[in-house]
Amino acid sequence: MEFIDLKRQYNLIQTEISQSIKNVLEKGNFILGEEVDKFEEELSNFVGSKCVSCANGTDALYLALMARNIQKGDIVFTTPFTFVATAEVISLIGATPVFVDVENDSFNIDPKLLEKEITKLVSQGKKDSLKAIIAVDIFGMPASYERLINIAKEHNLYLIEDACQSLGASQNGRRTGNLCELAATSFFPAKPLGCYGDGGAIFCQSEEDYKLLLSLRNHGKGTFKYDNVRVGVNSRLDTIQAAILIEKLKIFPKELEARESIAAYYRKQLENYFDLQKYSENSTCAWAQFSLLSDNRNAKIKNLQSKNIPTAIYYPKPLHLQGAYSNLGYKQGDFPISEKLCENIFSIPMHPYLEMDEQNLIIEALSM
Ligand SMILES: *Cc1c(COP(=O)(O)O)cnc(C)c1O
Repeated sequence: MEFIDLKRQYNLIQTEISQSIKNVLEKGNFILGEEVDKFEEELSNFVGSKCVSCANGTDALYLALMARNIQKGDIVFTTPFTFVATAEVISLIGATPVFVDVENDSFNIDPKLLEKEITKLVSQGKKDSLKAIIAVDIFGMPASYERLINIAKEHNLYLIEDACQSLGASQNGRRTGNLCELAATSFFPAKPLGCYGDGGAIFCQSEEDYKLLLSLRNHGKGTFKYDNVRVGVNSRLDTIQAAILIEKLKIFPKELEARESIAAYYRKQLENYFDLQKYSENSTCAWAQFSLLSDNRNAKIKNLQSKNIPTAIYYPKPLHLQGAYSNLGYKQGDFPISEKLCENIFSIPMHPYLEMDEQNLIIEALSM
């Protein structure tokens, strides 16, 4: 059994993928070819906001920070319970990440604790440094955007959605990527919508941001290639990856339904025995991961291993305890919920092509 079985998906759309790649090879336009425009347009229709593709999800987050002119000395809030890229881009742009713990049910940033942290920093005279929030939709579950938007408005902060794991999820009838002013997603192969290499996209709601992001991802381009109106980066989605994603986007809605029904079955069978991630209000989830909590994680993982069922731990260590962030001065105990999650969490196979007998095998092994 595979943790995420990409081969089953490939077997299903092999012919279409090959044809789509072949078209690009024959046309020979490998950088920002017409497939890139087409994919951006189709993804934009799917998500409901404007889409600018780029080289990967990390760059998408970085470009969002660039678009908001985040710089040295600025403070950007995020959680310690995420993939390192979320905090890494804050540091790379010269700003300082300030961590806020997550809710113990959604595993996403806790709006109450965020407000508390903002109040504390304002009382320390740091009001002018507070610039942005990066909310992460962990494992595909949207954070609480209504509350976050209100907090952002009240304190004059930008709100950026890290939708790298949540493409396809929704909240109050709107897709992730369209839940606030700016969002970033990733097409890393294991994400809900993955390509065959690296890829990413930024979503924005205003025409102004759209034009700015098109320029930033392509060396700060102005009206023509050698007109450079600002300092930008080289971060484009390869035409070949766009051609692959066009085919994958066609089956994506169906795959999301399959993920949802597998997750529903898992939940029904497991919720009496394990603590599970809870839905955010009025939300659907993209189920990038299906995670369980157990005080006895190692024994559970061993039982699964004995039946050749793969597992993964997202994440074994919260970011505030990572060596890369030792300079921030955090210590064990600062974010108890994230720390506890890292101690007890593990993920079981989750992908749209998981057969019923495999799901039953996993559930059975978990009851051992
Ligand atoms: C995968 C991921 C990223 C980075 O995406 P890449 O395409 O690998 O650069 C950022 N944030 C989160 C939460 C992710 O899961």
